[in-house]
Amino acid sequence: MSDVVLEGRGLAHSYGSTRVLDAVDVEVRAGEIVAVMGPSGSGKSTLLHLLAGLLRPDAGEVWLAGERLDTLGERRRSERRLAERGFVFQFGDLAPELTVEENVELPLRLTGVRPPTARARAHEMLDRLGIVEHASKRLSEVSGGQAQRAAVARALVHTPPVILADEPTGSLDTTTGELVLEAFVAAAREQGSAVVLVTHELRVASWASRDVLLRDGRIVGGSGRPALDEPLAEVTG
Ligand code: ADP
Ligand code: MG
Repeated sequence: MSDVVLEGRGLAHSYGSTRVLDAVDVEVRAGEIVAVMGPSGSGKSTLLHLLAGLLRPDAGEVWLAGERLDTLGERRRSERRLAERGFVFQFGDLAPELTVEENVELPLRLTGVRPPTARARAHEMLDRLGIVEHASKRLSEVSGGQAQRAAVARALVHTPPVILADEPTGSLDTTTGELVLEAFVAAAREQGSAVVLVTHELRVASWASRDVLLRDGRIVGGSGRPALDEPLAEVTG
């Protein structure tokens, strides 16, 4: 067997009668970062939601660690989500009434890590992302970029085997974005996480092991090292 951790086969999805993804195959191995690229509206976020088990495909299959995800019942799917994956979505779903550190501790607490250990690990991750000094602020009291880094910290803190991130550096300046990308690279290289990184920025994709290029819901290129040449550049931005 290969070390494919997450796989989508023949994925299709429509919203109403509009097909926005068609026949998409993607596989992600342990320890690699796959950048999903493409212009706005090409289906990147939809693909990520299918891989996350948050949406069901109209056709095709999603496999996570040898288990077929798309046919699991809702309850099992959400258990698998919690246990297996770190998510960073474009419009984060952190709890605004909790503090930054409480948000980051959540996945650890849910898996039975004791409070002092959870706090220490949360602070370590927040420090890495340059926001530990905001740890005790409520989420509603920090800036958008700080909240985004808190979402990254929460996704990475429990060393999940699969990390799915939708434009995780979207609202960050270059330096801060690099802190986030370094954290993804560390998760892949040091912990063997399989990372899917959705981005429309070439600069961000250049941190990935390889890329997949979507256009109008279909894969039109990618694989191998990121191709930092004109055909790719033409569809970004
Ligand atoms: P991307 O992330 O690449 O910008 P999306 O996956 O968000 O692309 O969207 C792909 C297409 O599906 C777009 O045309 C978008 O307008 C449409 N779409 C996305 N989400 C919905 C939805 N919830 N309902 C209807 N159409 C949607
Ligand atoms: Mg999107």
